[in-house]
Amino acid sequence: AKLHGCPVDKDELGRSTWNLLHTMSVYYPEKPTEDDKSRAKSFMTILGQTYPCDFCAKDLRKDLKSDPPKVENRQEFALWMCQLHNKVNEKTGKKAFNCKNVMERWRDGWKDGSCDY
Ligand code: FAD
Repeated sequence: AKLHGCPVDKDELGRSTWNLLHTMSVYYPEKPTEDDKSRAKSFMTILGQTYPCDFCAKDLRKDLKSDPPKVENRQEFALWMCQLHNKVNEKTGKKAFNCKNVMERWRDGWKDGSCDY
C-alpha cells in the first residue's frame, strides 16, 4: 500500500494507465470516423514512445508492431486492449483475464451489482 503524496511506482503507474486505456477502449465509438481510428492508433504509438517505464515501453513497441491496434469499432478495440494487457499479464506471471468480460469489468459493471453504489 502506498501513501498519498508519494511518487508512483511501476505497479501504480500500470494500474492508472490500464484504467485509462481500458476505459478509453470501451467508450471508443461503435462507428468511428477515420479521424477517430487514426487518433486511437497514434495514442498507442505515442504511449510506446513516452511511457515512463523504459523496459515496459520497449516491450509495448514490440507488441504494437507484431499486433497493431484494431480500431474498426468499439468491440474490436476493447478486445484488442484486453489481449494487449494479457500479454503483459503473461510476462509478469499474472493470471489471464477472460476478455469476454471486458465490457462488464470496464463499462457496464458486474451483473451481480457489485459495482453499484
Ligand atoms: P493490473 O495488471 O494493473 O490490472 C488492473 C486491473 O485490470 C485488474 O485488477 C483487473 O481487474 C483488470 N485486468 C487485468 N487484466 C486485464 C485484461 N487483460 N483486460 C482487461 N482488464 C484486465 N509491469 C511489469 O512488471 N513489466 C512490464 O513490462 C510492464 N509493462 C506494462 C506495459 C503497459 C503498457 C502498462 C500499462 C503496464 C505495464 N506494466 C508492466 C504494469 C503491469 O501491467 C501492472 O499494471 C502492474 O504490475 C500492477 O498489476 P495489478 O496486479 O495491480 O493489476
